[in-house]
Amino acid sequence: MKNFSELIFELEKIIGLENIVSSKEELIVFESDGLTFGKSIPEAVVFPENTQEVQEIVRLLSREKVPFTPRGAGTGLSGGCVTPEGGIIISLTKMNKILKIDTENQFAVAEPGVVNSHLSKEVEKFGLHYAPDPSSQFVCTIGGNVAENSGGPHTLKYGVTSNHIFALKVVLPNGELVEFGSEFAESEGLDLAGVFVGSEGTFGIVTEITCKLTPLPKTYQTFLVFFETVEDGINTVSEIIASGVIPAALEMMDSQVLEALEAAFKLEIPKNAGSILIVELDGFVENVEPETEIVKSCCIKNHAQSFRFATTVEERTKLWIARKKAFGALGRITPNYYTQDGVVPRSKLPEMLKKIYEIAQKFDLKIANIFHAGDGNLHPCILFDAKNEKQTHAVHQASKELLTACIDFGGTLSGEHGIGLEKMDFMNRLFSENDLLAMQKLKEVFNPENLCNPGKIFPTKKSCVELSLKNRGNYF
Ligand SMILES: Cc1cc2nc3c(=O)[nH]c(=O)nc-3n(C[C@H](O)[C@H](O)[C@H](O)COP(=O)(O)OP(=O)(O)OC[C@H]3O[C@@H](n4cnc5c(N)ncnc54)[C@H](O)[C@@H]3O)c2cc1C
Repeated sequence: MKNFSELIFELEKIIGLENIVSSKEELIVFESDGLTFGKSIPEAVVFPENTQEVQEIVRLLSREKVPFTPRGAGTGLSGGCVTPEGGIIISLTKMNKILKIDTENQFAVAEPGVVNSHLSKEVEKFGLHYAPDPSSQFVCTIGGNVAENSGGPHTLKYGVTSNHIFALKVVLPNGELVEFGSEFAESEGLDLAGVFVGSEGTFGIVTEITCKLTPLPKTYQTFLVFFETVEDGINTVSEIIASGVIPAALEMMDSQVLEALEAAFKLEIPKNAGSILIVELDGFVENVEPETEIVKSCCIKNHAQSFRFATTVEERTKLWIARKKAFGALGRITPNYYTQDGVVPRSKLPEMLKKIYEIAQKFDLKIANIFHAGDGNLHPCILFDAKNEKQTHAVHQASKELLTACIDFGGTLSGEHGIGLEKMDFMNRLFSENDLLAMQKLKEVFNPENLCNPGKIFPTKKSCVELSLKNRGNYF
């Protein structure tokens, strides 16, 4: 082939014109994900409806050496489903069926476009749920979660996506269909499903996911704890973990976030609260009651101002909605914000928090902090006005310093949002050349021609220099 219209004609033969978007106006929707700094418009977006169509599309694109990028709901925060090298986006949103629910063996088989929360809603009637619960769970897809190895507030007790995946059907970048794992938690041979989870769309396209379903806890104890300072909140987190209690969730927010939450949800947060901790304990009543007492005493020891318990299902739901929509609520207090995602060892949280506030001061920026405190996973949200160029530049500088601090404290670059485009140039600060080479060799086993989601994760000379000059626009 082929010029562009011939390619579209071939794609049309596979999925019909109604499943292809190629007009400039409509393609704008796909120019970025949740990371809106860098934009790159794909040449077309295709919407296959089943595995066979994905295979045929991938075979065609692979034969014609056209790069392609899988995309779920586009809620990613590291530019993972953006197309800096051009090419075609393969959107999996029309593959949104739950294919099987096995209540006896507690697993489900879902297409990649199933929205995370829809799966839990569907199996609730059987007393089950799908435990990984990113804050974006009302929109993001299970396929995107697999690619990013997503976590969420309940990761502390239940683990991240990789702990819940039994098997995957994957269309490799040459169009071959393979199956990794099995519906039994432990399958024979290498754990290739485990290798695939977290590969950020660079190893192939997942078209079927067999995932674990977890029984709903018998009871919950969910409460807010208010502290005058952030330090008191963080010290409490360390004390709770040291006590041996593993809460289902242990989430912290500082006063900047509280201001936004109050504006959005009217939670009647005490005016002098400097931070709040959301604690959720779950399980059998016999366990939850004594654990609540232990956690309360840790809080009191660290100067908790007050507690507020969710006493009804509605109150618990309201509380979690507020937490999960906290990022969105920031829109009440700032025109734009940039969410970072870094990890430090839990013991370093107090020092890291101090560093974040120093960085904010240095660059004259406001930084609001929401974090999965129990995991040491921080989400500093830098508030700014994108119309202000100087401030936007400061945001990039501050963000670099934040990530560098995470590495210096013995942490890592991402807890859950992935490397994507955003952090690829930081990879060689964290990994040696040999480590990076080993990872790239692994990628080449799956994706030897680098046609599947190129220009991501690795700071190759090509990606750093060429892309930043040519295609990456204003990416970092
Ligand atoms: C407000 C907000 C809150 C968030 N909270 C959390 C959180 O608590 N925890 C968390 O982990 N993340 C969170 N995120 C980030 C994001 O929602 C997750 O990374 C999510 O898993 C992305 O899913 P998606 O369907 O939107 O994927 P997309 O953004 O469309 O894609 C993400 C990556 O997955 C790849 N991909 C998508 N589908 C497939 C497929 N079928 N096969 C292979 N690769 C594929 C893409 O190529 C891309 O690299 C949040 C985002 C927002 C905007």
